[in-house]
Amino acid sequence: MIEKEICWNITAGCNQACKYCHRFLNIKDLTTKEQIIILENLKNSGVTSITWTGGEALLVKDIEKLLEKSYEYGIKNNIITNGKLLTHDKIDKIYKYVDSITLSIDSVNNDINDSLGRGKEHYAEIKDILDYITYKDYNVKIRINSVICKNNADTFSEMVEFLNNYRIHSWRIFKFMPLRELAKKNKDLFDIDMDKYESIIKYIKSNSNIKQIDTRIEKDMEKKYILILANADIVITENGKDKVVGNALNDSLKKYLGGVD
Ligand code: SF4
Repeated sequence: MIEKEICWNITAGCNQACKYCHRFLNIKDLTTKEQIIILENLKNSGVTSITWTGGEALLVKDIEKLLEKSYEYGIKNNIITNGKLLTHDKIDKIYKYVDSITLSIDSVNNDINDSLGRGKEHYAEIKDILDYITYKDYNVKIRINSVICKNNADTFSEMVEFLNNYRIHSWRIFKFMPLRELAKKNKDLFDIDMDKYESIIKYIKSNSNIKQIDTRIEKDMEKKYILILANADIVITENGKDKVVGNALNDSLKKYLGGVD
């Protein structure tokens, strides 16, 4: 039995333009005051860990303050970031409040990163963050998120080689998912079949030093996650359809927190 993951998509804004992105678009951010009300509601609902994501969570004006408050409430924070705003100074400020930082990277190849919409400098930016955290020896778990799609499917040996240089707590590897928005529109550009995905996972599991390798395919998104959108909508996905089941400014999340097999 595992607990469902509460993913707070605290902003729909992003500073990258991944063409496979399946975030909800065109949603306005709430104010800091409203975000604090949501946080208090999560705490009162019995939420013990939050995955802060977006869009790009670090774009949120008072993200440091929110992480600090959440930490004071005894909540375990995991922040997912593309790394663009995760400067050394930012790491120094937030590492105390987070249990883990998840860095999104799909390739060490600059052209592939560019073709995905992450930009040619993405690998260098992630490498710099990993080098800095390693050098500082901060007590924070590093997690990696990657998406396997047509563009990078044949280059995972380079990713394994790169990540083997660092102390990475876990690596979550998503199969490209045409769930909604851009990802749905660009399905033909990125889709790969299940056999290909499984063969890459098999390769990674036998060659990576990372002990925890997690896989994610579309059906996992239905079972394992509860989303809170930037406008506070609580969303679950059932049979491929997103369903708004409440509003995190007012509604308790208690009934959604049960475990799944
Ligand atoms: S996948 Fe993440 S980093 Fe890329 S555009 Fe979407 S939210 Fe931004």
